[in-house]
Amino acid sequence: MEFPKELIDLVKRRIEPYDVEGFVLGGGNSQADLMMIGEAPGENEVIEGKPFIGRAGKELDGYFQAIGIPREEAYVTSVVRSRPYKVVTTQKRGIPHTRKANRKPNKLEIFAHAPILDYQIERIQPKIIVALGGVALQRLIGGSGKISECHGEPIVSSIQKLKNLEENTWVWSEKEYVIFPMYHPAAVFYNPKVRSEIEADLSKMKKYIENFQ
Ligand code: URA
Repeated sequence: MEFPKELIDLVKRRIEPYDVEGFVLGGGNSQADLMMIGEAPGENEVIEGKPFIGRAGKELDGYFQAIGIPREEAYVTSVVRSRPYKVVTTQKRGIPHTRKANRKPNKLEIFAHAPILDYQIERIQPKIIVALGGVALQRLIGGSGKISECHGEPIVSSIQKLKNLEENTWVWSEKEYVIFPMYHPAAVFYNPKVRSEIEADLSKMKKYIENFQ
């Protein structure tokens, strides 16, 4: 997908005040019926400049395999285009070791990059949006909904978009979209027990997509 240079410059400027690094655009088919929205790129993604190519990306490939849709047919993106990090110092055999660790994007970072996700959704007009994790779900439909409480059940709803560039406020889209809440592919790293729930959700999603078309 082509992006206006002014849009890229704008969102890069808006994210400047925050502790983030890199800039990764979405990838895939600009005419996709299926859009997958993650949280923010991680270390590998900002090195390569591609979404979901690290450990979580391998898990996401498994999602595509399970629903029987080639990844290239869909569009894969995230709420925030840069990697939010925090600097952590740990001791390794008594020697302090400082590194950048991933963290969830905060509200201001989500607002900073809202214009680009709004643009992607408006251009692609996906028939189904998969919200990968709570950050994507709350960005789209507001509230404080937890994935653990709504995963695997499609929601038909208007979605939030940035009101204007001066205010950090959401307005609702006129159009309603089908949102399919799913655990983020990285959830299994922290809680391996969710794998069986993910598998059940993917099989529901496969059936849903087959009946949708
Ligand atoms: N998690 C995301 O949400 N996006 C990526 O690109 C990688 C990990």
